Amino acid sequence: MIRFDNVTKLYGRDTVALEQVNLEIEPGEFVFLVGASGSGKSTLVRLILKEMEPSRGAIYVKGVRLSSIPRRQIPRLRRDIGCVFQDFKLLPNKTAAENVGYAMEVTGQKRRAIRTKVPQILDLVGLSAKMGKFPRELSGGEQQRVSVARAFVSQPRILLADEPTGNLDPETSVGIMNLLQRINRIGTTVLVATHDREMVDVMRKRVVALEQGRVVRDMVKGAYADEV
Ligand code: ADP
Repeated sequence: MIRFDNVTKLYGRDTVALEQVNLEIEPGEFVFLVGASGSGKSTLVRLILKEMEPSRGAIYVKGVRLSSIPRRQIPRLRRDIGCVFQDFKLLPNKTAAENVGYAMEVTGQKRRAIRTKVPQILDLVGLSAKMGKFPRELSGGEQQRVSVARAFVSQPRILLADEPTGNLDPETSVGIMNLLQRINRIGTTVLVATHDREMVDVMRKRVVALEQGRVVRDMVKGAYADEV
């Protein structure tokens, strides 16, 4: 579903963000990407979205080499990749339902589809009762649920989450991870970049660890760090 072939990414001449990364994520997998701040996690996520090109190597999403996708087809690529961020990125003057609906609108979906889909997806994330609330009227966890709903409303095959629990307390974080796990169980490939150690340790999923831009560990049912 996602493949990195010897990918190196430099910023400018001498900041090496990723170095010779090889990675294969199969359809339907749930993968944690861990590593200290600055280890290259966000860079890896942004490369999958084709926000920039690798300096060397090749990236494939659903079998298509990203460098072969022309600029005008990037929106189509991104429609199939839902994204969740640490800071939620909700529109402050739109309600929960409008935030989700707007995401569908900009990808060109019909009004009727939006009217039926939005309540369904907000129900899936447990927010039926708060559809009409603005972000400022929602807790951090609720706002993140809205952003998961927005990322998932077009049923992308891939969901990327960059530090989705970075601004949440541990209990709320568990709820968000469970939600991502449910989305994974219905067949979505999920990649979560995080440095939430405890979460990674309890979930027992595949863990890919980056250190200074290199993959230093890749373990099925892993923990955040090697046991000592
Ligand atoms: P992480 O997400 O793990 O914190 P990043 O991918 O953001 O790591 O960063 C990897 C490295 O690349 C760091 O050394 C960081 O300072 C550098 N970097 C990230 N983004 C940029 C940028 N836009 N310009 C220059 N250097 C960058």
